[in-house]
Amino acid sequence: MQTAGLDVCSFSAGEPDFDTPPHIRAAAVRALEEGKTRYGPAAGIPALREAIAHKLRQENGLTYSPEQVMVSNGGKQTLYNLMMVLLDPGDEVIIPAPYWVSYPEMVALTGATSVILPTTEAQGFKITPAQLQAAITPATKLLVLNSPSNPTGSVYTPAELAALGEVIEPHNFYVISDEIYEKLVYDGATHVSLGSLSPHLLERTLVSSGFAKAYAMTGWRIGYLAGSRSIIQAATNLQSHSTSNICTFAQYGALAALVSPESPSAIEAMRKVFEERRRVMVEGLAGIPGLTCATPMGAFYAFPNIQATGLKSLEFCSRLLHDHQVAAVPGLAFGADDYIRLSYATDLDTIQKGLYRLEKFVQSL
Ligand code: PLP
Repeated sequence: MQTAGLDVCSFSAGEPDFDTPPHIRAAAVRALEEGKTRYGPAAGIPALREAIAHKLRQENGLTYSPEQVMVSNGGKQTLYNLMMVLLDPGDEVIIPAPYWVSYPEMVALTGATSVILPTTEAQGFKITPAQLQAAITPATKLLVLNSPSNPTGSVYTPAELAALGEVIEPHNFYVISDEIYEKLVYDGATHVSLGSLSPHLLERTLVSSGFAKAYAMTGWRIGYLAGSRSIIQAATNLQSHSTSNICTFAQYGALAALVSPESPSAIEAMRKVFEERRRVMVEGLAGIPGLTCATPMGAFYAFPNIQATGLKSLEFCSRLLHDHQVAAVPGLAFGADDYIRLSYATDLDTIQKGLYRLEKFVQSL
């Protein structure tokens, strides 16, 4: 529609609309000029694995050696490699819904079974300890936690995470903690890593994260996985025989993202812009009768409830796009058909114009 010249307000982006900060780009260019253009170790260049281990220790309270870190082609590949080495047919994977679209698909590729735990906006889209307890069976192999969440923006408080940790503690299944949005939290919310809560949880948790969201580096394709030595080794073996190392000079950009003194202010500047856009988005949604929206505490998505409109998410998004030129993502893709996802990783003018059109659409129903 945009190619045909239509003025579409897009709330569909799953990525920051900023350029990668200049000092990170410069580090990759320098590496390229210096000839860092050859094969490297499958798990990543040692300096980057070292810097990631240091970051996890300093910022997240997770003690890993560099050998417990694997660098992959985005958070997506870390999760894929992990599921491939961990899961077999017959295994159950507990996935809270709404979930990031790729988790159940990856589970399906391994032949394991997804056990979906639905949540609602009334519970802040967070599973309760009782819900988790009731879902655990002898076949449970893995729990997927994603905080801050895509698509809901929910963030577990330290107390909520500790309560889930108590349920997990007596068991021997694994937990993936997908922390890719950890830097994007608002209103004083704090991000806590599950593995920092006890030695057992550290042993059973695998952290998946990456540079895409916090550093505006989606196209660079750099993510990482940290966890127990044997699993990281197995995931590295899989990577070694499938894709090998990720782009060598790009890894020097990621290294600069972690170690350069310019980085904290660069990512804080982007976070602040997201925080302001979030305010405009949430206030605008609150003013539309027929929609309700839990306040997202992290990431860059709002996830309003459309149930009162009488439409399910596919029809809602299709009519919104074709009749009012606003692009949103149907909640169905995230396992929540009464909701839509609106990304506020776009400029304020688009947010205001899109909200106006959304209101007109809802009024017309
Ligand atoms: N995890 C979540 C929750 C995401 O939203 C995304 C990307 O949208 C990823 C992982 C994968 O990120 P990437 O592969 O770009 O690093």
